[in-house]
Amino acid sequence: MTGAEATPDRIELRGLTVRGNHGVFDFEKRDGQDFVIDVTLHTSVARAAATDDLAETIHYGELAEDVAGIVENNTFDLIETLAERIADHCLSLCEHVEVVVHKPSAPIQRTFDDVRIRVERRRADSAASSVGEPATAADATPGSGGEDEDGAEAYLNLGANLGDAADTLDQAVAALDRHPDITVTRRSSLFRTAPWGGVDQADFLNLGVLVTTTLSALELLSVAQGIEVACGRTRELRWGPRTLDIDLIRFGDEDGEQHSRTPRLTLPHPHAHERAFVLAPWAELVGDTLIDTPQGRRPISAVLAELDDQDIARITSG
Ligand code: ATP
Ligand code: CA
Ligand code: CA
Repeated sequence: MTGAEATPDRIELRGLTVRGNHGVFDFEKRDGQDFVIDVTLHTSVARAAATDDLAETIHYGELAEDVAGIVENNTFDLIETLAERIADHCLSLCEHVEVVVHKPSAPIQRTFDDVRIRVERRRADSAASSVGEPATAADATPGSGGEDEDGAEAYLNLGANLGDAADTLDQAVAALDRHPDITVTRRSSLFRTAPWGGVDQADFLNLGVLVTTTLSALELLSVAQGIEVACGRTRELRWGPRTLDIDLIRFGDEDGEQHSRTPRLTLPHPHAHERAFVLAPWAELVGDTLIDTPQGRRPISAVLAELDDQDIARITSG
């Protein structure tokens, strides 16, 4: 199905109630309150109905878990941002979504029934995950992430090429480190890199960070995606310009990294070995680690050396 095709079918999730810590007031962030979420996915259910096959549709149990995770794992000032983040996630499942976030206990000194924000978003990019590949719980190998009592190590790559990209990256690293379950242990230099993926656009600024976290890989990705949305990102062209992109490259260390192969979370990141802007900051942080490539595990320095045709420059020390 492409974005141009209209379908009258919908998958609707109504009244999902999740406790979260969103709001501009300190007491809202501290004490939390219930948020109620409605999601409408405009997607054809014809194939699933014809075959009676769960794999042909969106698994609403998993949808509910994913949305609940977004409410629980982020702290936004505004329910507008929360709605945008949920919509952004749903656009990875289908191409047209509506999200309503209700805040029935909002701090308003009057009697009222409900406060709600409704967003409707369409995906410009038709490369959405197909409904034949529903997102599934991505922590395929829990506990294998090289964890100790401080949690697991993870490497994230951040990129930006719209607005004040350097400032956005600073804010994103600070936001990661502010999260109570994430500590940024090392931050790379900043790199200026030519865009990847064939879309004509401005150069990117990239950097990498090593973190330790007690979150699961999926929770960490969810937090990263929340920060993308909070920094003003909306989902448009794949590999096109964006305010902020945060990719989870490795979860766990060289001796115990987690593997996952779902559209929602693929680990290690499938394009890492072919991107100098991912490998150069990583090598700066960890030295010569072994990374996955189609030719097996290889030293990062050797893989990076073969990418010398890619236009990348270190522009400042981190
Ligand atoms: P690329 O992944 O090739 O760099 P991109 O960053 O432009 O492409 P996005 O639009 O940011 O792609 O993300 C598309 C989807 O990829 C998201 O819905 C996200 O859940 C999924 N995804 C899967 N694995 C990962 C990962 N390791 N890191 C970040 N996102 C991932
Ligand atoms: Ca990316
Ligand atoms: Ca991304």
